[in-house]
Amino acid sequence: MTASSSNAQADTLQKHIYAFGKTTDGDAKLRNLLGGKGANLAEMARIGLPVPPGFTITTEICTYYYNNNQTYPASLSGAVKHAVAAVENEVGKRFGDAADPLLFSVRSGSRESMPGMMDTILNLGLNDEAVVGLAKKTGNARFAWDCYRRFVQMYGDVVMGVQSRSENEHEPFEVVMSGLKDEVGVALDNELTDAHLKELVNRFKALIRERTGEDFPQDPYNQLWGAIGAVFKSWNNDRAKVYRAKYNIPSEWGTAVNVQTMVFGNMGDTSATGVAFTRDPANGEKVFYGEYLINAQGEDVVAGVRTPKPIAQLKKEMPSSYDELDKVRSILENHFRDMQDFEFTIQENKLYMLQTRNGKRTGLSAVRIAYEMVQEGLIDEKTAIARIPADSVSSLLVPVFDENARRQSEVLARGLPAGPGAATGRITFTAGGAEYMAKHGDKAILCRIETTPEDLRGMIASEGILTARGGVSSHAALVARQMGKVCVCGAHDIVIDYEKRILSVGNNVLKAGDFISIDGTTGEIFAGHVDTAPSEVNQVIAGTLDPSQSYTYRIFSTIMQWADKYRRMSVRTNADTPSQASQAVRLGAEGIGLCRTEHMFFEGERIDYMRQMILARDTPERRRALDKLLPYQKSDFIGIFKAMEGRPVTIRLLDPPLHEFLPHEGGARHALAEKLHVSQELIAERVSALHEANPMLGHRGCRLGITYPEITEMQARAIFEAAAEVQSQGTPVSVEIMVPLIGFEKELQHQTAIIHRVADEVSQSSNVTLKYMVGTMVEIPRAALNADKIAHHAQFFSFGTNDLTQTTLGMSRDDSGSFLPAYKDLEIITQNPFASIDVDGVGALVKIAAEKGRATRKDIKLGICGEHGGDALSIFFFHSVGLNYVSCSPPRVPVARLAAAQAAIKFG
Ligand code: PEP
Ligand code: MG
Repeated sequence: MTASSSNAQADTLQKHIYAFGKTTDGDAKLRNLLGGKGANLAEMARIGLPVPPGFTITTEICTYYYNNNQTYPASLSGAVKHAVAAVENEVGKRFGDAADPLLFSVRSGSRESMPGMMDTILNLGLNDEAVVGLAKKTGNARFAWDCYRRFVQMYGDVVMGVQSRSENEHEPFEVVMSGLKDEVGVALDNELTDAHLKELVNRFKALIRERTGEDFPQDPYNQLWGAIGAVFKSWNNDRAKVYRAKYNIPSEWGTAVNVQTMVFGNMGDTSATGVAFTRDPANGEKVFYGEYLINAQGEDVVAGVRTPKPIAQLKKEMPSSYDELDKVRSILENHFRDMQDFEFTIQENKLYMLQTRNGKRTGLSAVRIAYEMVQEGLIDEKTAIARIPADSVSSLLVPVFDENARRQSEVLARGLPAGPGAATGRITFTAGGAEYMAKHGDKAILCRIETTPEDLRGMIASEGILTARGGVSSHAALVARQMGKVCVCGAHDIVIDYEKRILSVGNNVLKAGDFISIDGTTGEIFAGHVDTAPSEVNQVIAGTLDPSQSYTYRIFSTIMQWADKYRRMSVRTNADTPSQASQAVRLGAEGIGLCRTEHMFFEGERIDYMRQMILARDTPERRRALDKLLPYQKSDFIGIFKAMEGRPVTIRLLDPPLHEFLPHEGGARHALAEKLHVSQELIAERVSALHEANPMLGHRGCRLGITYPEITEMQARAIFEAAAEVQSQGTPVSVEIMVPLIGFEKELQHQTAIIHRVADEVSQSSNVTLKYMVGTMVEIPRAALNADKIAHHAQFFSFGTNDLTQTTLGMSRDDSGSFLPAYKDLEIITQNPFASIDVDGVGALVKIAAEKGRATRKDIKLGICGEHGGDALSIFFFHSVGLNYVSCSPPRVPVARLAAAQAAIKFG
């Protein structure tokens, strides 16, 4: 050990070492100082659980170590000796005693668990003499030599750095061990005899000497300081740094070192070791869940050398230990008031606890556990809400892959998770193919390079949608989400060849008709069929399952009621059809925050008239097309107003980037020419005249209504006539007309003048007083920066964060899939900015616009309708800016309700 005696920092450190055992210094509250593992060992010892005694060297020493050129405070050495002596007294054995040695395990443990960051060292304190003593003392030579070979192996690897030198090289100790097993003709580690293990120790030591030029240390204190140093060093290994960066763990936190008396699960058939959860981490059920191995040490359970047995079997094999463990299980839950994941060892029928922590869990189990713990009186509603990751509720609403089936499937490629849920079906490359399959009872996965409105029928008919291009706010993604379809988009490694009707990833080639499975929650794509399980909540929402028959639904609806009690922001939905609107209302939507009117033209012959309107050469021709569109629009609005029963409905005027609607393929152009009774040449000529190099920044949004005011006029008329009709039938209507892509005050003035004029006209002709508001989207930076001026003409703002992200970052929302993954890998960004708001850039503009808008119009209504409206992290931000509502796709409504409640609980 190297020690720096003259550093002033040492004096400011608190106690260096905290003991646990009969005397326990720390507790669970000292997590920052003792790390999660150390703090909980202390807590378990405090409440009387059987914890083998030991001590924790604090995280402050780790910080000291790095600030002082990898040295320790001078007083640490004495403190360690003192702590070892206390353990020696408690267990009645001495560290380094050749006849009956006290052995330690040495483990890291930071504030947040960082799984796999550092390997554990077990059986520390053994050497060539002590192994003989241990064999004699226990009367079990095989056990003693097994401990020693494990120790030499772990120490050689972790402390002395004997590891694979390249990716292609096998782990060197394993190579030596397999070599010996082959020589002596056994298959499993536990078939090696004490003589074999003795030989193995010799070979391991030789390997260490050959690789490092050093001998394996025989002095126990040298071993201990080597292990302590290795733990502190591991805090800054590459793996740990990458992990910390990914989970935003500051490097100043440091790790603690836990030195604990060894207990042995490998002392024969009355010994065992295992890991367990107080509840099922997969589905949340309150059952004892876990696995164990008889006659083994900890790492065997995780390493998969032998297959562990389910914990229920322990009841038969070691009934009294099982009963004791089951009692510990309930003590832990009652004490920590959360589901625990713990490690235990049974040494000759005596139980010891080695670790406990809050267990990781699936979304479904997070929701169920939180709900049931409130019912059991373990936690209150607010704690339950804060504890459920908001996204988890969506796993109650969508089909999921069967966990076993998924584990056995290999990921073929990854894309962006764009529409949550799991879908499996046959590959089809065309919308027609999907419709055909659906008609014949087959499940289809529609695989497209990217989707256009022409694919809509196919999207409806398919189980899921996979695209090779496009971002999370691309057309495919947002339409899929609104329809509640499973969608993975922007899977760049996938090459789709429409002509050959194949989809390939490297050498893997799948044909049309082959099975493929996609997970829109994670973005994973699997070749072949992976079983899925349906969502009960969705069946209840769809009216096909009685709510009283579904426990999951009861959990879901209760959690949602709790969320509504605490949240302050409203939650609306993005819906374009009455059925989407009704579904969203059943999921708790309080209004429509965005009805994209261009989406209403996807269906049937409407798309032809829409195209006729777009392709029109002059105003009379355009008016003719608009006249045909008006009745469709009006009847759609009537449907939506009726479905919403007086809740606010924000209707956005036409905003299609025109390329989404133009017929690109020869066949589609031919069909359109026939329908419109014009020549194909004319269609081709107009398509080429309308061609835009960058349609997203082209002739779209309010620019359409400015250049062709008749479009705004038609839409306003359809909206107001529909409102008047529904109102006169007795259903209240609250409509908010929204003008898209405003950048200039005068643009909005121009459009609002038309809207107010048409409102007056309809009001007079129908004799109905219309209740409406006019507002704008804030989706380009100029609008945000001039929000004070724009607010003179807008009663509300709705932040279009899809376009605002696109225009603020100068990144195309459709094309970002090709470079964003690299940006994430390099940690230039931590989140996809189209999925989770870029707080420093886009967020800053939202804040400015909100402040400026309120400065002009105190009661201006503020909402958000970009895809970020359904993202939990973004919702936290919107709450902090004081928006009145968020609007998201129907299936995200519950997520938004929960996230809004969490924001209110956390930030007030
Ligand atoms: C937006 O830009 O955030 C928005 C909601 O509009 P769209 O996605 O239709 O462009
Ligand atoms: Mg937009």
